[in-house]
Amino acid sequence: MKTLNVNRVDFVKSAAAPAQFIRSSLPAVAFAGKSNVGKSSVINRLLNRKNFARVGSEPGKTVHVNYFLVDERVYWIDLPGYGYAKVSQKERERWAELMEQFFASGLFSLGVMIVDARHKPTADDVTMAAYFQQSGRPFAVVANKLDKLKKSEIEPNLALIRETLSLAEDTALIPFSAEKGQGREALLALIQTVL
Ligand code: GDP
Repeated sequence: MKTLNVNRVDFVKSAAAPAQFIRSSLPAVAFAGKSNVGKSSVINRLLNRKNFARVGSEPGKTVHVNYFLVDERVYWIDLPGYGYAKVSQKERERWAELMEQFFASGLFSLGVMIVDARHKPTADDVTMAAYFQQSGRPFAVVANKLDKLKKSEIEPNLALIRETLSLAEDTALIPFSAEKGQGREALLALIQTVL
């Protein structure tokens, strides 16, 4: 299959309710992660853009599902971040409802969950991983901010992430640095498998 041209990308829409989720015969990759983990930075790195997906703005304030169309061949779905401490109870509930609706819709082909390579995944990360695992869709985890680890920390941290999220042996765990670009080719290769 022809390599995805990530230079061709358009923002399509922001969905705040299931009626606005995109129903398409094209494959769709859903990106999830807690606020500030670098989800926007990972997407921007994949696209070789600086500011396509928004970076660092108002964490937790965006309970929307954002859709990009890449190369007119695959939707990339930016799911709203979670776990931001200062979010109101009401926003938390909106997030949970929208996520339940999104997973119930089954409107994605591949799940990509981004965690922080430095830390043990949070309880919210464990919940999100379970959502993806129960979806029955292919699923991969990206351990971002790899550049902040000492070399000796990489293997033990990856093992802790794998164990905490109960990842199946065949689930890919991709060490990544949105800052430096490590892992970009591996993640693009995985996305290529659903095209
Ligand atoms: P989001 O809330 O998950 O979309 O996170 P952002 O993409 O806005 O990133 C949050 C912060 O982490 C920003 O200050 C980024 O510059 C920083 N960041 C993201 N990825 C990396 C990375 O791989 N390495 C380092 N050192 N910083 C990163």
